[in-house]
Amino acid sequence: MKVLVINAGSSSLKYQLIDMDTEKLMAKGLCERIGIDGKLTHEVIGMEKMKKDVPMKDHKDAINVVLDSLTHEGYAVISSMSDIDAVGHRFVHGAEFFKDSCLIDDEMMKVGEACCEIAPLHNPPNIIGINACKEVLGSIPQVAVFDTAFHSTLPAYAYLYALPYEYFEKYKIRKYGFHGTSHKYVTQRAGAMLGKPLSELKIITCHLGNGSSITAVNGGKSVDTTMGFTPLEGLIMGTRSGSLDPAILPYLMEKENLDTKEISNILNKKSGVLGLSGVSADFRDVEAAANDGNERAQVTIDQFCYQVKKYIGSFAAAMGGVDAVVFTAGIGENSAGFREQIVSGLDFLGIKIDAEKNKIRGKEIDISAADATVKTLVIPTNEELMIALDTKAIVEKLK
Ligand code: ADP
Repeated sequence: MKVLVINAGSSSLKYQLIDMDTEKLMAKGLCERIGIDGKLTHEVIGMEKMKKDVPMKDHKDAINVVLDSLTHEGYAVISSMSDIDAVGHRFVHGAEFFKDSCLIDDEMMKVGEACCEIAPLHNPPNIIGINACKEVLGSIPQVAVFDTAFHSTLPAYAYLYALPYEYFEKYKIRKYGFHGTSHKYVTQRAGAMLGKPLSELKIITCHLGNGSSITAVNGGKSVDTTMGFTPLEGLIMGTRSGSLDPAILPYLMEKENLDTKEISNILNKKSGVLGLSGVSADFRDVEAAANDGNERAQVTIDQFCYQVKKYIGSFAAAMGGVDAVVFTAGIGENSAGFREQIVSGLDFLGIKIDAEKNKIRGKEIDISAADATVKTLVIPTNEELMIALDTKAIVEKLK
C-alpha cells in the first residue's frame, strides 16, 4: 500500500509518499509560497534534491504539482495517481471531538470545521489541503490524524484549568496538548526498543525542537502533557514564552498599551529563546553565543534545561515512577550537551546516561549508563510515518 502524507499550512504544503509494505520513504517535498508565486522542492529518495519555481495559485494547484512530480518521466516513483492507495492528512486540532485518527467524510469535515474556532491559525489550512486533495484525487480514501488525539486520554484533573467552570462549558477552554503524533510514535518505538508491552511501561517523552512539549505516558496512554489550550503553554520555545504568571498579561498590556493581538504576537513570536537570549530563536546560535561568553544566552540554555528537568521530575511523580525517558526532535535528537545538562542530578531517580553513547547521533539508541535503573532513549521522531501507519490501519478496515 502506498500512502501520500500531506501536511498543509496556510501557504505551504509538505508531502511524503511512503510504501507501507516496507515502511520506506519513496519521495518527499515541499510546496511553498502557494497563492504568492510558487516554489517546489522535490526529492526522490536516492536521487539529488531539485528545486524549481512552479506557479501555484492555490492548494489545488500545489496537489497537482505534487502528483506531477511523483509521476514525472525520468524520476517517476509511481506511474499514475491511481497507484496512491490512500492519503493521510495532518490535522492540528481535533478539540474534544476526535479521540483518534479517522476516515475523512462529510460528517468528519463538518465537525473538523467546527474545531476551527478553537484553532483559527492551524485548522483552516488543514481543511483547505483536504478539500484540494478531494478535488484532485477523487475517491481515494483520506484519513485525518490529529495532533491532539493522543492526549484525549488525559484525566479531568490534568486537563481542567481553575477558571470559572462555565468557561470550560461555554468555550471548551481546557488543556488539549499537541505534538501527539510525535509523542505516540516515539512511545511505540520505545516499547519496541525495550521489548515490553506499553501496558507495562511508564514513559516520559521529551519532544524538544523549535516547539517543545513533554508528555507522561502511562500504560501507553498520555496522562499529562506540557502544552495546553494552545501550543503556548509549558516549556520556553523558539519564540514562544511557555508558561507565565497569567497576571503578567494585563499588567504588560496596560504598561505598554497593547491590544490582544499585540500581546499574543509578543507571547508567540517575540518571546522564548529569542526574547530571553536576544540572540536567536535557534538554540545552535544561542549555544555559540554562550560559548563566547554571552550571559543572557547561557541563562536561556540553563532555564530550558532546568524546565525540562523539572517536568521529568513532576511527571515521574504524577505516574508514581518512570521506566524510560525519551528524547526526540531537533534538540532532543541532536544535542548531546542539552541531554547531559537536562539529566544531570536526576540520578536520584535512577536516570543516568553514558557519556560515550550520548555522542552518537541520528539513530535510535539507548544512552543509559550501565547502572541506571531508568532507561534514557534517543528516538528520531517520524510524524509522517505515524500518520501513514494510522492511515493504513483505517483504510485496511474498509476492505
Ligand atoms: P520543529 O519544531 O520546527 O519541527 P525541529 O524539531 O526540527 O523543529 O527542531 C529545530 C530546532 O532544534 C532548532 O531551532 C534548533 O534550536 C534545535 N537544534 C537542532 N540541532 C541542534 C543541536 N545540535 N544543538 C542544539 N540545538 C539544535
